[in-house]
Amino acid sequence: MKKHNFSAGPCILPQEVFQEASQAILDFNNSGLSILEISHRSADFVSVMDEAQSLALDLLGLKNKGYKALFLQGGASTQFLMVAYNLLNKKAAYLNTGTWSSKAIKEAKLFGEVVEVASSKDKNFNYIPKSYSIPEDVDYFHCTSNNTIFGTQMKEFPPTSRPLICDMSSDIFSREMDFSKFDLIYAGAQKNMGPAGTTLVVIKEDILGKVSREIPSMMNYKTHLDKESMFNTPAVYAVYVSMLTLRWIKSNGGLAAMEKRNQEKADLLYAEIDRNPLFKGFAAKEDRSAMNATFNLVDESHKETFDKLWKDSGVNGLNGHRSVGGYRASMYNALPLESVQVVVDLMKDLEERI
Ligand SMILES: *Cc1c(COP(=O)(O)O)cnc(C)c1O
Repeated sequence: MKKHNFSAGPCILPQEVFQEASQAILDFNNSGLSILEISHRSADFVSVMDEAQSLALDLLGLKNKGYKALFLQGGASTQFLMVAYNLLNKKAAYLNTGTWSSKAIKEAKLFGEVVEVASSKDKNFNYIPKSYSIPEDVDYFHCTSNNTIFGTQMKEFPPTSRPLICDMSSDIFSREMDFSKFDLIYAGAQKNMGPAGTTLVVIKEDILGKVSREIPSMMNYKTHLDKESMFNTPAVYAVYVSMLTLRWIKSNGGLAAMEKRNQEKADLLYAEIDRNPLFKGFAAKEDRSAMNATFNLVDESHKETFDKLWKDSGVNGLNGHRSVGGYRASMYNALPLESVQVVVDLMKDLEERI
């Protein structure tokens, strides 16, 4: 039986996507060939890549606005260094909201000076810093829209005259926003967009060409833009499954509909976290993530009972990250509201037993 999958990533994808994706392994487009055995330069796959890139820009409202979409490899972690390699001349500003921001900062320091404009490390990253200023003389400002591990999410982005770069790995395509205020957005596919193996980079082309260093071909955005993500063999299957997921998002109402569903799920779970005396939320209320809800037991001695309850009820992936402990419910686009209701009922069930 299908489990209620709260895994933080790789994560749940729509069941229709799993079905279509598995069919394509056996016979892709009635071609008599598996998607796994065709050339990435075949017309069939080139059209998958084109559609994936086009859907990504379309869903973000960035078509014909000077942006291109790339599907690269190496995960969001490679973007930590590619961003700096391509854009950091002297100095860049970073907002530190958690493990992933910290890792991005570490890589950027290899290329120049990093100004950490603010950090929420003082409280184990349970909030998003609000009052800080971004120096005018930096090459760009980098932030993380959703902190997958700590369960915080930026609801607003600071106005800045400098290029705005954002790691949206865990909330891309989950909500509506004016994406045109960003100059570069990147996201590892495996949190909300597809399987592991490919990384979406959406880039405003006019921010490139401003650093003086030599950039190795594979690390150079220009290489990939010139070759439309086909400089070398792309992650064919991961791009295909991402394309199917983007189609699913579009045919299910786009980002407005995703946001509405995601908010309903988040409201349902957070209401129970706040109501149930056995649990407490980890993230500051105003910064709570609609994607990853982090919460703990008030009395850890109930852990064994609660863990057994949810594991016996077909729930998967509710364990918190080791740096927060407790529980983390990742409620990406494809997770149905009914799965959240199951966890809420289990929380109530625990309260009744104790
Ligand atoms: C998971 C995650 C990453 C790392 O992604 P990889 O694709 O594993 O390199 C980076 N940033 C955020 C916000 C993440 O959630």
